[in-house]
Amino acid sequence: MFEGINASDGYGIGVAQVAVAPDLSFTPTAPTDLAAEKERYAQALQKFIDQTNAQIERMTRTVGKESAAIMGAHIEFAEDDGIKETINSSIDSGMCAEQAVSEAYDMYFNMFSNMEDELFRERAADVADVKTGILADLLGKEVVDLSSLPEHSIVVVHELTPSMTADIDKKNVAGIITETGGRTSHSAIIARALEIPAVLSVKDVTKTIKTGDMVIVDGSRGRVIDDPSDAELTKYRTKASVFASEKAALESYRGKDTVTGDGDKVLLVANIGNPDDANAAVEHDAEGVGLFRSEFLFMDASELPSEDQQFAAYQKVALRMKNQPVIIRTLDVGGDKNIPYLHLQKEDNPFMGFRAVRYCLNNADQYKVQLTALLRASAFGDIKIMLPLVTCLDEVRQARALVAECMEDLDQRGIAYNKDIEIGTMIETPAASLIADNLAEECDFFSIGTNDLIGYTMCADRGNDRVAYLYDVYQPAVLRSLKRIISAGNEKGIMVGMCGEAAADPLLIPVLISFGLNEFSVNPPSILRTRRIISAWTKAEADALTEKVMCLKTAAEVKAALQAAAR
Ligand code: PEP
Ligand code: MG
Repeated sequence: MFEGINASDGYGIGVAQVAVAPDLSFTPTAPTDLAAEKERYAQALQKFIDQTNAQIERMTRTVGKESAAIMGAHIEFAEDDGIKETINSSIDSGMCAEQAVSEAYDMYFNMFSNMEDELFRERAADVADVKTGILADLLGKEVVDLSSLPEHSIVVVHELTPSMTADIDKKNVAGIITETGGRTSHSAIIARALEIPAVLSVKDVTKTIKTGDMVIVDGSRGRVIDDPSDAELTKYRTKASVFASEKAALESYRGKDTVTGDGDKVLLVANIGNPDDANAAVEHDAEGVGLFRSEFLFMDASELPSEDQQFAAYQKVALRMKNQPVIIRTLDVGGDKNIPYLHLQKEDNPFMGFRAVRYCLNNADQYKVQLTALLRASAFGDIKIMLPLVTCLDEVRQARALVAECMEDLDQRGIAYNKDIEIGTMIETPAASLIADNLAEECDFFSIGTNDLIGYTMCADRGNDRVAYLYDVYQPAVLRSLKRIISAGNEKGIMVGMCGEAAADPLLIPVLISFGLNEFSVNPPSILRTRRIISAWTKAEADALTEKVMCLKTAAEVKAALQAAAR
């Protein structure tokens, strides 16, 4: 058994698919038997074609013919006579198959990537995939395609990047195990949104578990069992069915208002990453969207999405949520969210670098495209704009000035928008927490980003397992900061929400009620459970517990007190 971080609840039983990004480096050699070298290439090529055809067949069954057709380009580039000829003649001139394949596909890659036409440029990615596939086979390396895994797969990866998660098909993936990341890493957040049990930060798991192994992922306790016994399998099948029935019991909270034990209403909304997630928000009975991480829209594209493309995405969410509030956070790029086509400079300390609202304000024309798209979408629902990683008032003022410019442009273009659109800010830095009273005077709402706030307050990177013991919402320093932010917002009469993962922490909910949090924004699957726990506490009970907790001096004491009181 291996231990890791319990990142997404539930139990997954299935077959491991270890996806190691293959190291495709090689030292060119001079083959002595050129015919045999050409045969090696021919075999690797055939294997690639067979695998791709099988993938196409699987995708046709799971995602439909149209999506599967995308893979046809891989076959075309693999079978292309011109490329095959180039590779064979390079081998004839004394090159090893690896080098011949590499050079031939690199040439096509460069050619396509420099083309004017976007459609042709996109083919460059296909060429790169074909090269990876054939080269990996020649080097005896395995490439796993996360988009077309067989049913009941347990994905085992070093790190699950946001772009990899986009490939995951929930129907086929029973569990996720990674070697890196904590509860608030983006892998964890996405695993929870997909309701896939996940255990993160399991040391060297890609080396210890082999593709084909039977594996149990206990996402609730953070355990992984490789090659389980029959008794373990029976035990976990029972746990999985109990988990499913507990989930079913929460159904009685569907369609109800979110109220504390004494009937005070709070808002319970969802965090989403793309427009389609709005369906999950509605399905899980969210009362709106408290955080739409717009950066995923940018990460999923190969170039900056245009105003119309962004407008369509934001409008889709606004329409789907009817007139419920929808808070859309402007581009939060940088840190662990890389967008290759923005060509951000490498920095020694990217988490404290040129990112999020800093990047956007410095690229005002680009930012105005997003702000304009948001304003246009505001004519179709209750859209609010939220700024990420604010540290000083000037940032809010500059962003507001840009919004005003965009409004003028829209007036000239005769396009409708909500002139009273609310503009708020994430409070996710100690600086913002310390000046929350000033910010509250110029912001329409706050949303506390505990994921970053904990990290910056404790100087502990959320993805670094060696400092995970410090990255803890129960740390007195963090609790004091939360209290201060919520009080500042309450005093100025603006809505204070929380969209960090702590909003769904069952232990913390009474403390947040006591502090006066107005809005809880959680992953869609956590909606009903959060509603149940909020309803289990009256304000007086929450106050009594919080008063006790705020006198405690260590995170362990705080957690123990909250655990003892948990409902
Ligand atoms: C946060 O920091 O709490 C937050 C919600 O933003 P993200 O997790 O996207 O950084
Ligand atoms: Mg953040």
